[in-house]
Amino acid sequence: MLWSATARLSANPSPLHLPVFNQSITVFGKSKPSRVCCSPSRAMETNDDTSKAKGLSFDDFLSKKPYSPPTWASHLKPIPSHVFSLAHLPTPIHKWNLPNLPQNTEVWLKRDDLSGMQLSGNKVRKLEFLLAEAVAQGADCIITIGGIQSNHCRATAVAAKYLNLDSYLILRTSKLLVDKDPGLTGNLLVERFMGTHIQLISKEEYAKIGSVALTNVLKEQLLKEGRRPYVIPVGGSNSLGTWGYIEAMREIEEQLQIRSNRVKFDDIVVACGSGGTIAGLSLGSWLGALKAKVHAFCVCDDPDYFYDFVQDLIDGLQAGVNARDIVSIINAKGLGYAINTSEELKFVKEVATATVGKLLMG
Ligand SMILES: *Cc1c(COP(=O)(O)O)cnc(C)c1O
Repeated sequence: MLWSATARLSANPSPLHLPVFNQSITVFGKSKPSRVCCSPSRAMETNDDTSKAKGLSFDDFLSKKPYSPPTWASHLKPIPSHVFSLAHLPTPIHKWNLPNLPQNTEVWLKRDDLSGMQLSGNKVRKLEFLLAEAVAQGADCIITIGGIQSNHCRATAVAAKYLNLDSYLILRTSKLLVDKDPGLTGNLLVERFMGTHIQLISKEEYAKIGSVALTNVLKEQLLKEGRRPYVIPVGGSNSLGTWGYIEAMREIEEQLQIRSNRVKFDDIVVACGSGGTIAGLSLGSWLGALKAKVHAFCVCDDPDYFYDFVQDLIDGLQAGVNARDIVSIINAKGLGYAINTSEELKFVKEVATATVGKLLMG
């Protein structure tokens, strides 16, 4: 996952096309003396800056730690009691040297794609909180649901395996594939190698029954078998998962603070699939020191659906803020998930050629 930063979003239409990169998250900002004020040091890590700069030590990785929120989020409820270190944090932030940017405009990327290989991307940030709760509740297996190549489902299966928990994935696919072996392509290869339990469901049935009912049926079945399942919703996007991105905001604040050459981000641009990422980012940006405007490009459903969804997530934290005040959601569905027009592909190629193609397309 990538992020970037620029001064005036409206000055150049090209950043608006960024969500065509399925693997990108972008932060837009401007280089000027920072107004970022003090933020508390990260309680879940050691207090010394050198170890932070080097990332997780081997004692930290896969350890469960008591969690304390940033001071600006300490009024939220409920506050998770623990967090699991699954991601390699902090992920780097660097300038993205796009050609032809308007004057005084800079684009920066937050490289969450470097959070760890099998768990890479933003999904792991939510799982750090969700799996801590699963373990605290004494779960022995994890259930989650998503599309056939869902990165969230793969990340969940890998994280569960790290913690010696079984995982059960309900994967949505075409009717045709439900009846035959889904094969070993992409994330399925990883999941099947790990011995993940996979159930396939057709898009039609998924739409009819709904993800919550589907996971509940499986949960009941497993309970009857004497298992102790923990259910993670689509994309890991619930109020608890939102903490992953509240924490990401604290991480960015700290990264900006230790820079000698101060940078301030005016805008954050991010893709939105299941809604948890933007809920955490926009709440963290609003409550914390960053105060950058969050622009979310949704790749499914529509903005009204996501305003309501984000509202539910932040209400679940008793934040007392209005979703429409803290995030602007833009429809970026285009032709549909993973379907591109030739213009979009041309744009992707132009940007990839001008910058680091492999990095963007990977
Ligand atoms: C999953 C994903 C998103 C969307 O996150 P949600 O919390 O599901 O909305 C955005 N960007 C990237 C790169 C992702 O992998």
